[in-house]
Amino acid sequence: MKHCNPCPSSSEKSKAVFNNASPPDLPYFDSVLAEMNRLAGKYGFVTLSEYGKSVMGKPLLYICAGSGARRVFYSASHHANEWISTPILLKYMNSYFEGVQNSGQIGGYSARALFSQTTLCFAPLVNPDGVDLVLRRIARGSFYDEAKKISAAYPFIPFPNGWKANIEGTDLNLQYPANWETAKQIKFEQGFTSPAPRDFVGTKPLAAPESRALADFTRRLNPNTVIALHTQGNVIYWKFADYEPPGSLELGLRLAAVSGYELSQTPPVSDNAGFKDWFIQDFNSPGYTVEMGLGESPLPLSQFDGIYRSMEPLLSTAANGA
Ligand SMILES: [Zn+2]
Repeated sequence: MKHCNPCPSSSEKSKAVFNNASPPDLPYFDSVLAEMNRLAGKYGFVTLSEYGKSVMGKPLLYICAGSGARRVFYSASHHANEWISTPILLKYMNSYFEGVQNSGQIGGYSARALFSQTTLCFAPLVNPDGVDLVLRRIARGSFYDEAKKISAAYPFIPFPNGWKANIEGTDLNLQYPANWETAKQIKFEQGFTSPAPRDFVGTKPLAAPESRALADFTRRLNPNTVIALHTQGNVIYWKFADYEPPGSLELGLRLAAVSGYELSQTPPVSDNAGFKDWFIQDFNSPGYTVEMGLGESPLPLSQFDGIYRSMEPLLSTAANGA
């Protein structure tokens, strides 16, 4: 595993403002990189590393903190136009690390108690190229031209706001080897048979470097619980097929209670090949997709504070365990 602490210098020198500012900074790759470096510089007890590279060569960054036996992994922005999940996770990281430093509380728990009991890892920007496309940071060049060309075949999906995929048009949350063939059949029947702004499952499982790297990282970390942040619906998905990992319903009910979100008892028909599906299948441990907020993605930043109020206790509860 390559360590970089700090990681390659950012072109964005501005102080990151993911912590207390409202609305937060936008999660351009450059500003997320700056923020990750700032956190690693400020808090000596966290480790910043990269677990792979995106299609365009951006480092895929993660931070781990704590040394406890319980390992928990949070990720955000598998889907490009669900980028509000990135500043939500970064704000949580800020609050948690601050709490560890100053013996504070986070979501109803002592941050230091969580720190001693858990190893918490965060990958706040799973799809950096896609997020930069939706945020118009990528607005010219060959990758942009190709994305625009892909998008032209789907005039009913707004460009770039409807873009969920990675920069090459693969939906990163339809890439995992968990009923991938079923997902492929469903999405092909819906017309997504080649690279698309969303819903193209890729040429084979884990063909996209962003999904493959995340799966490899997850195997190395071997977490007890994972949560993938998405938008929208105010709902928590905990099921995959007929799997029911020990403790997953109990923890799911607790997550629903502290967040006010609904725990969905039934998986959506098209719920295959997602990160949490694969995690549940391969690890037989609790994995959740949390669909935050309400409305059409990308959600407006006016929802940020409300979403965060639900997520802080949810993330702390999952870190602690049921
Ligand atoms: Zn999503």
